Amino acid sequence: MFGVWGHDKAAEITYYGLHAMQHRGQDGAGVVVTNGEKLQLHKDTGLVNDVFKRFDFSKYPGRGAVGHVRNATQDDGTFDNVQPFVFRTLEGSTAIAHSGELVNAKTLRKELEESGSILQTTSDTEILAHLMKKNGEKTTEEAILSGLERLIGAYAYIVMTEDKMYVALDPRGIRPLSLGRIGDAYVVASETCAFSIVGATYEREVLPGELLTISDEGIKSTRFSLREPRSLCAMEYVYLSRPDSDLNHENVHASRKRMGIELAREAPIVDADIVTGVPDSSISAAIGYAEMCGIPYEMGIIKNRYVDRTFIQPSQELRDQGVKMKLSPVRGIIEGKKIVMIDDSIVRGTTCKRIVRLLKEAGAKEVHVRISSARIEHPCYYGIDMSSREELIAANYDTEAMRELIGADSLAFLSPEGMDKSIIREKTLNQGLCKACFTGDYPVLEKGEKKDFFRKY
Ligand code: AMP
Repeated sequence: MFGVWGHDKAAEITYYGLHAMQHRGQDGAGVVVTNGEKLQLHKDTGLVNDVFKRFDFSKYPGRGAVGHVRNATQDDGTFDNVQPFVFRTLEGSTAIAHSGELVNAKTLRKELEESGSILQTTSDTEILAHLMKKNGEKTTEEAILSGLERLIGAYAYIVMTEDKMYVALDPRGIRPLSLGRIGDAYVVASETCAFSIVGATYEREVLPGELLTISDEGIKSTRFSLREPRSLCAMEYVYLSRPDSDLNHENVHASRKRMGIELAREAPIVDADIVTGVPDSSISAAIGYAEMCGIPYEMGIIKNRYVDRTFIQPSQELRDQGVKMKLSPVRGIIEGKKIVMIDDSIVRGTTCKRIVRLLKEAGAKEVHVRISSARIEHPCYYGIDMSSREELIAANYDTEAMRELIGADSLAFLSPEGMDKSIIREKTLNQGLCKACFTGDYPVLEKGEKKDFFRKY
């Protein structure tokens, strides 16, 4: 998500911000802009560049804008679910963009439908709009706050009317959201890498349970919840975010490198020939691991960066002939070597298995897999695309059985404690993590609540 308020080129700035965060979602993109009197929306399925290829920014003037890139978490990659959404009433229009996932979405949808609301999409985002409408005709701070009160789960919202922008983060701060400035203008973004590209300076984190109201009069903060500590999604550090982003005051590359160092302490290999990482998200950890073990880091695997979801996949026949798409082993580096292969995580195990095979086919003598995060044994209910236990290999097999399935000579994971040690540097900055997918400890649960909480909703 990206938002800007108080800039003459709001729509254009938002486009560049979204482009920097393309890795967060490739299924759709959209921008809404306000000129103080009306909202104009442009959105479509596909990559940011495709959606805005023939877009004429001069026809979308205005000093406030909200943008979103979509990552379909369920089988719902349709146009209807592409954000932002715009709701138009006699009292004015409201745009909404959302990141995360609501735990009690089903209950709220049912309740809304029973009281006469007709929901247009299968997305959680729409729910807040309907809750707000039930609390008054106009979109106001009070209406938003009473809507937010009903939500359980992970959410970051940007809501925009003709003359105001509202920014909200859930009480645990599970999803990342930062505030910056470009001169007098305010910007908000899921990742700080979007600030660099538009020349914005980082101001601060949006706080857990905080609602910001931004308008031409300035910025106002309301804390609607004070539940310490923060539980920022650990998968943001492990896999999702860009290495040049800072999440809650910690640089992502530096955190990943420390995870690699910690992994080398917990599961060292001293007599390997090279350490290599799976591009792009595992390179930082591989550098850390290599440094700690004193083994050279080598570029053993190359990624073809032009393979994305729009790439025409070769037919089964061509795949059988060995037409490989995304990752290629560097034979000259790998052949005859004992290799440590670092990957950032194992979710379903299919990619990992494929890479081990690639390395062995390219002549690797041994492949020792080291994973720079813990075993993912529990589904995510907060917006990371792994929502069922069945699909998670670590939920169904122990580490030795996984080693055999992926065909590695050895396999080890970083411990959850090792992750904490690597990521959390400054407890005074409230740098708690959500590690629910690793530990089963879901942070929206109050003390004493049971895990079957989720079945209730
Ligand atoms: P696999 O070996 O098939 O479990 O795939 C794991 C790889 O996918 C890791 O190297 C991660 O970089 C990446 N990954 C981790 N989490 C996700 C996710 N939720 N969606 C897509 N890819 C992911």
